[in-house]
Amino acid sequence: MSTNGLISQDTIVALATSPGAQGAIAVIRVSGNEAINIVNGVFKGKDLTAQDSHTIHFGTIREGEEILDEVLVSLFVAPNSYTKENSVEISTHNSKYIIERIINLLIKKGARAARAGEFTLRAFLNGGLDLSQAEAVADLIASNSAASHQVAMQQMRGGFSNQLKQLREDLVHFASLIELELDFGEEDVEFANRDQLKSLIQKIYTVIGKLIQSFEQGNVLKNGVPVVIAGKPNVGKSTLLNALLNEERAIVSDIAGTTRDTIEDEINIHGVTFRFIDTAGLRDTEDVIEAKGVERTREKMKQARLIIYLFDPTQDNIAVVQQQISEVRDLNIPFVTIINKSDLLAEGDRAEYNVLNPLYISAKKQLGIDELKEELLNQVNLSNINTDDVMVTNIRHVEALQLTQAALERVLYGIDNPVTSDFLAMDIRQSLHHLGEITGTVTTDDLLENIFSKFCIGK
Ligand code: GDP
Repeated sequence: MSTNGLISQDTIVALATSPGAQGAIAVIRVSGNEAINIVNGVFKGKDLTAQDSHTIHFGTIREGEEILDEVLVSLFVAPNSYTKENSVEISTHNSKYIIERIINLLIKKGARAARAGEFTLRAFLNGGLDLSQAEAVADLIASNSAASHQVAMQQMRGGFSNQLKQLREDLVHFASLIELELDFGEEDVEFANRDQLKSLIQKIYTVIGKLIQSFEQGNVLKNGVPVVIAGKPNVGKSTLLNALLNEERAIVSDIAGTTRDTIEDEINIHGVTFRFIDTAGLRDTEDVIEAKGVERTREKMKQARLIIYLFDPTQDNIAVVQQQISEVRDLNIPFVTIINKSDLLAEGDRAEYNVLNPLYISAKKQLGIDELKEELLNQVNLSNINTDDVMVTNIRHVEALQLTQAALERVLYGIDNPVTSDFLAMDIRQSLHHLGEITGTVTTDDLLENIFSKFCIGK
């Protein structure tokens, strides 16, 4: 593993809690060989260098004679910490001024400001986490629904990588047997039993296939279900969107500090996030009327995993409605047929639409909205997903799995056809390489920098 550029002996410091957030307490994290010594140098209380790991101590942080704050200091002695290094967490009062003073003081005493993700990078480099677990830490922090939380938690606890590690070890065993055959050159020896190798490869191939398949659902759980509300102008698309979002906002805006922007076009139904695509365009009905607008709507529909198709029975007759439905059906994306403005439709007039098996709602009068939400959930069929199942949620992982699969196919071909051991060995090595990329057994500085630079400072 080439990580020389990233390994560093420096003791690093950063604010671990959210900068600028309201709240009583902030936590400053320090990690590295000198972490305990450096903090001890500015801490008045017990001698921290003489205390046990996993103990908490009350005292003051001082710069010269000046008391900066009364704090609690938590000690983690290497290797029993997140980073596997000596680590200290200082709980201070949550004042921007105090935090800056303490961090600057620790830097003066020999620590260095941590880079984005550097604590988790160290946890990875020191063997505390594998790469997919480290990535799950970021997902866990970003999780905003019960489903995304469960998937990240499951990945962080290693379910996914444990399975791969075992398979990889079995394959390493075969790779070395085959490489041994190479040493014997001309002599026609077979150390690696081809039948056993074949059945192992088939087993790995099946497991990987399932993991790749799980990505679609895993990704949906993590990032939300992309939904498009479609239909002709004036059928009530914006009204429906607002009806769905407003209810949500009323709940969310009670929580202090939540940003409106991030939830603007999302709703959460029983722990699953539904994300409405390009709803800004929807609000702009002028745009949709244009031919170009219609074309764009079709493009958007293709990105959706679910389409809500809206009709206005006061505008469209059944023939028009059926024509439009067949167009949507061609896209092969699950869709929900909705007759809106049901408040304007006499009960007796519904019969002609029943062949479409639609849901009747009134976006304006907020009728049928709960039933619609239930239907959305049914359509994506997530309610029966067992989030304890191993699930892939990361595009980097799925790409590595696909490359592994392609290499395994070549191995299988090689077993059944007269291919020399050196080619077989090469394809097995390729599979091992791609499998290793997921857990970080095989990695490069560029890859790590790319992954960890997306973390926040302090993680
Ligand atoms: P869009 O062009 O599809 O986004 O349609 P709008 O949401 O702008 O709605 C067009 C018109 O239909 C507006 O005047 C709405 O107030 C009205 N409208 C929407 N939903 C309903 C409904 O359920 N019942 C009635 N009576 N009018 C509705």
